[in-house]
Amino acid sequence: MMAAAKTPLEDIVESLGPRLSSKGQTYLISDTKTFSETFTSWSDFNKKVPSAVIKIHTVGDALETVLWLTSNSVPFVIKAGGHGNFCTIGKEGVIIDLSNMKRVTLHEDSVTVEAGILTDELISTLYPQGRCVVSGGCGGVGVSGSCLAGGLGPLIGLHGLISDNILSARVITAAGELIEVSKTKNPDLFWALRGAGMRFGFVVELTFRTYPLSTLGSDDGSIWEMTLMWGEEQLEDLVEALNGLGWTKGEAMGYFGFVHVKEKESDKISPVCLAILHYFGPTSAAEEYFKPLLSLSPFHALSPPPQAQPVRIPYNLINALQVPSQKHGGFKSLFGVGVQRLSVPGMRKIWDRYTQFVSTNPDAYQSAVLVELFSVEKVREVGRKDDTAFPHRDVNIWALPQLWYNDPSTEPAATKFGNEVRKMLQDEDFGSGGKVKAYVNFNRGDESIIDTYGSKERVARLQELKKEWDPRSLFGDLVPSLK
Ligand SMILES: Cc1cc2nc3c(=O)[nH]c(=O)nc-3n(C[C@H](O)[C@H](O)[C@H](O)COP(=O)(O)OP(=O)(O)OC[C@H]3O[C@@H](n4cnc5c(N)ncnc54)[C@H](O)[C@@H]3O)c2cc1C
Repeated sequence: MMAAAKTPLEDIVESLGPRLSSKGQTYLISDTKTFSETFTSWSDFNKKVPSAVIKIHTVGDALETVLWLTSNSVPFVIKAGGHGNFCTIGKEGVIIDLSNMKRVTLHEDSVTVEAGILTDELISTLYPQGRCVVSGGCGGVGVSGSCLAGGLGPLIGLHGLISDNILSARVITAAGELIEVSKTKNPDLFWALRGAGMRFGFVVELTFRTYPLSTLGSDDGSIWEMTLMWGEEQLEDLVEALNGLGWTKGEAMGYFGFVHVKEKESDKISPVCLAILHYFGPTSAAEEYFKPLLSLSPFHALSPPPQAQPVRIPYNLINALQVPSQKHGGFKSLFGVGVQRLSVPGMRKIWDRYTQFVSTNPDAYQSAVLVELFSVEKVREVGRKDDTAFPHRDVNIWALPQLWYNDPSTEPAATKFGNEVRKMLQDEDFGSGGKVKAYVNFNRGDESIIDTYGSKERVARLQELKKEWDPRSLFGDLVPSLK
């Protein structure tokens, strides 16, 4: 009896392998265990097992891979830093893994990177050269994944969104062509790339504007940082103080929220209010600016101990405190939503719900509710001159209920909690007029396309461009879909 002919996917190693560069590799995935052990990602939520993973090394590999996959009608997803919940595909398809595509080319006031580079890798390559770049607030997150959706991060108050700082990109299109995209080359696609970029093509290279470290307000590339914790009895005063700061100064940014920490002597977990503050300027100016918070007597009794004294840290360590939250594995998801201000009674309600959720589901103690506080003046100023597909320049504060649990049976309670807190954040007191403002990078996956891209007009323009550039929806058919 004749053996059945192999499907293209079964034949991928023999068929695609020889077309890749010497270091490019194609791995067939035989079972879930091998996949989970070899190819980790930030969250196991929603995670599927593909038929193969293709680890590419060069732009040439990327092009060969896309041509092979499209000509064999094999669906695929592109994985950069692996922090997206929807960067997943089942047995019907493959993952293109960019973890070996990280070349960096420095220019006088810009930098060109391959699409697999991670945030901290880029920061630490530029820092010794006396340069910095607008990038995300978490070192392990992929530069391309974060910037293509818009890109929030510590320096947006000084220089605009990450995507506002893209000068050009090289993109493999659905037609299998490698093209340049910039203000002057394919400008419509350039508009779409900066906010909805993962939906239009395979971005293989990006060029970003860089800045001298002196824009961080110090001679030595250092910045001011402080981590503080308070008990719930100060919650109302804290929220008042945070609102009072106004966050219109590009030099100041911070994260505030509710987390659980383990006590020093035992494994007992306790909820606390946490703030991580950064200031790009002299210590005296930082202490003056943050006085309303610093004067609220934080305590230092819990482990890990918060810094008792403010310190100056080299800028390349700005994301160091976020390391625990970027750890791969476990079930995690975000229910992000944009708000205009923090409601004092609203934050108390969220605290109550959060502490109740963790006390009844201790497996989920690493869950958190965080808000990101930056000045958005610059983001708005840039947007007035140069519109991009990023829709939510009007949002003042991004609020992030983050679920994290290890036992899949916690899922229903966790989802209920995430939904409820997201709903609370839409209360009138938070100032968003009952509207959901969803940033695609912080989405849970059930947000509508209008909530994600802000208006019917913007969605219509994106849909038109999708028809033009990716009519078969080969790239980034994320939720919510543009179709
Ligand atoms: C702990 C944590 C911290 C975060 N901090 C920030 C932050 O500070 N600022 C911020 O803006 N966001 C932040 N995010 C959100 C993050 O930017 C998104 O999850 C982003 O999609 C992750 O990018 P990635 O490359 O790591 O993930 P991936 O899962 O690899 O990619 C995400 C999506 O982009 C697509 N994609 C990736 N690379 C390409 C490419 N080269 N061409 C085309 N499509 C591509 C993927 O197919 C996938 O759909 C954070 C997320 C987490 C989990």
